[in-house]
Amino acid sequence: MPVNLIKEWLGHRSGRLALALGIYALLFILWVAFGATRLPYRDAIGDLAFPPLGIIAAVLTWRLGSQRSLKPRARFAWRTIALAMFSYAVGDLLWAYYELVLGTSPFPSLADDGYLLFYPLFMVGLVSFPSAPQTKGQQTKFWLDAGTVLLGGWMVIWYFVLGPIAVAEHTDRLRTLLSSAYPIGDLVLLFGTAALLLRHPEGGNRYALGFLAAGIISFLVADVGFGYQDLKDMYQSGNWPDAFWMLAWFLFAASALYQGWWVSQKAAADTPAVEEIRAVSSLPYAAVVLGFGLLITAGGHAAPYPLGGLLYAAIAMTAFVLIRQLTVMTENLHLLADLRQLATTDSLTGLLNRREFFSLAEREFERFQRYRRPLTAIMLDVDTFKTINDRHGHQAGDLVIHTVAEHCRKQLRKMDLAARYGGDEVVILLPETDLHGASGLAQRLLEAIQQSPLAFGEQLLKISISAGVAAGNGTSSLAALLHRADEALYEAKQAGRNRIKINAER
Ligand code: GH3
Ligand code: MG
Repeated sequence: MPVNLIKEWLGHRSGRLALALGIYALLFILWVAFGATRLPYRDAIGDLAFPPLGIIAAVLTWRLGSQRSLKPRARFAWRTIALAMFSYAVGDLLWAYYELVLGTSPFPSLADDGYLLFYPLFMVGLVSFPSAPQTKGQQTKFWLDAGTVLLGGWMVIWYFVLGPIAVAEHTDRLRTLLSSAYPIGDLVLLFGTAALLLRHPEGGNRYALGFLAAGIISFLVADVGFGYQDLKDMYQSGNWPDAFWMLAWFLFAASALYQGWWVSQKAAADTPAVEEIRAVSSLPYAAVVLGFGLLITAGGHAAPYPLGGLLYAAIAMTAFVLIRQLTVMTENLHLLADLRQLATTDSLTGLLNRREFFSLAEREFERFQRYRRPLTAIMLDVDTFKTINDRHGHQAGDLVIHTVAEHCRKQLRKMDLAARYGGDEVVILLPETDLHGASGLAQRLLEAIQQSPLAFGEQLLKISISAGVAAGNGTSSLAALLHRADEALYEAKQAGRNRIKINAER
């Protein structure tokens, strides 16, 4: 996360609240690291530190789910997650009541209901975030990746918690069942996180979702650590899993705060991102490394022969296959990028081609209509271009077109869209620009082109352009806007060329 963004966030109430909660969490983590064994009231601190932060996180998340600017599915997702948090916080309160007031630690108890509801609710929330429609291939990949992550998680949870539960001699079947319910809840939550990280959902800002995912991972680490220690009867309030739980709750609250701030401050100014070609997700590979790492330590210790050598070889083999697959995928990404370049740009000028221009311009036009931002179009055409072609040949003509495009590129901003519209005609769409700005730009272009004659062999070619400028105000479609710019261009040609005309019609 960029530092200036953090600074900007801290300038607002929401960022400062996050900072305060962070300090609270940090104090608790310091207590776990240095104070729990030395200071008094170990159980009370361990029990009472969680409900306040849990309830704050739940309330913040619920409020976020009430924001009207979010899509209904995103609101549902945040609210379901808020309910999950409430449920856990109630469990924590009940537990504090049992332990501190009644002086008992019953298992199973009502507190477990609250805790256990947390997992499925949270998972439902996580998978409910709206995501862009996916192709069949993407869906298959998602399920394969999520499956890999779950298998990695399963190996860890089996080794540390479920396996020992399975071999332990519990007399009480309900107890056994309930003890295994937590690790299974962890797997459920892990699936939700995989869905969050692999599907690139649209319901939240990526940092907010990053906080959320980091929070869940911290929570899962705490859960597995607790399960392991509890099985060995080593767990006490203030042990290291508590620090991870605290970190998780802080991250949950930070996620809601950041997302809420971002929705109110940033969303309006955010431009729709041009779809990027995504890099390969590393999540499934991390799961493989985790699972196999565990297998090596466990297998190598338990039976150096025959397991040790076989294990190392099997793992090395898998690594080779994975690396090979990654190489092919990287190659494909490069190919895809090249192909995309070919499919979206005009080869002579490097400007957008018509098809790409219209697909991007339609989005800009929708944004313009929805948010009432300024939008203008310029249509420009080289003057007496046929004569250049006739006198100096097509190569000279091509060079002229290329040079005009080069001038356009120099003058334009990154947000602007410029495309080769026809033979010697260029269309430019300027988001967030009014008529004044657009005509200024057209004038600068005109002058720049006029003042730099082009060397072609021995000859010096003088070029000029005519341009028509029009604003989106009052137009009901992109086609109508471009038509207006075209009308103005025609006027400029009629009036003697080498000039710009503005279509001021309202
Ligand atoms: P005006 O000032 O009215 O625009 O006159 P003009 O001569 O420029 O007329 P127009 O814009 O209609 O000329 C377009 C010409 O551009 C017609 C075509 O032969 C030529 N042309 C179209 N595509 C290319 C190309 O890729 N390279 C070259 N060299 N010429 C092209
Ligand atoms: Mg022309």
